[in-house]
Amino acid sequence: MEVIDFHTHLLKKEMVNPTMIQFLESVNPDFCARIDEFADNPHLFTEYLKTQGVTHAVVLPEYAPATSAFIPTEEVLRYCRGQDMLLPFVSLNPNTHPDMAERLEYYVRECGAKGLKLLPSYQFFYPNESRLYPLYAKAQDLDIPVIFHIGSSVFKGTRLKYCHPLFLDDVAVDFPRLKIVMAHSGRGFWYDECYFLSRLHGNVYMDITGLPPQNLLRYFPELEKNAEKVIFGSDWPAIPTGIQQNIEAIMSLPMSDLAMEAILHGNAHGILFPSQGEKVK
Ligand SMILES: [Zn+2]
Repeated sequence: MEVIDFHTHLLKKEMVNPTMIQFLESVNPDFCARIDEFADNPHLFTEYLKTQGVTHAVVLPEYAPATSAFIPTEEVLRYCRGQDMLLPFVSLNPNTHPDMAERLEYYVRECGAKGLKLLPSYQFFYPNESRLYPLYAKAQDLDIPVIFHIGSSVFKGTRLKYCHPLFLDDVAVDFPRLKIVMAHSGRGFWYDECYFLSRLHGNVYMDITGLPPQNLLRYFPELEKNAEKVIFGSDWPAIPTGIQQNIEAIMSLPMSDLAMEAILHGNAHGILFPSQGEKVK
């Protein structure tokens, strides 16, 4: 089975805050020792992905210097250039980028970016603020997905109130064709809210990044009912196991092959490559 990993990070030691380095050292010390080696060599990452059974990976920048990291979009675009397996995303911060819609259009049309990541609790804004609306309108026009960090975080200074999933209800209603992805699906606080929102709105997806696979059916007892709206992501390198172990743990859950294919590949494929239409099963 082909697998798309919808959530991986490019990290560079000098661009990451100390609390994030400490966290990485605690969960993935092997990677942490080689962090800049990976950052300087995308082939190292693509070779790793191949050993893990991953066919494509979304690579996320992170424009959140106050809380976690300052990985500009340009770094990720440079990293992914010429790498068919790697799908670069854009990071914009409403408190530092006054021209977000224009920037997004430039990155997507001119540089080949495939989507946008926003981190409300790291960048201090509510997703339904009117200043974000031109950006959402542009993302909807461009037909690209927007990932929101929705859930807890261990990083010092992040403020959870901003990523309450209910704020996405406004966005989903006002931009019915905008593909909204809830990264971490409400981790720690809001599993029911995220599940319900995703069932309610045709354009709201749950991503299960960073959730222990063995707990998934406890958090979401009816996950399979929503299988066409659930997306796999690993959060690499911030995971204690390899990506493959994560995939295998998900595949061992009592769900149908069809649901598994949708979660690990089909849903992400449909969102990332809309012009290719429905994947032939
Ligand atoms: Zn992440």
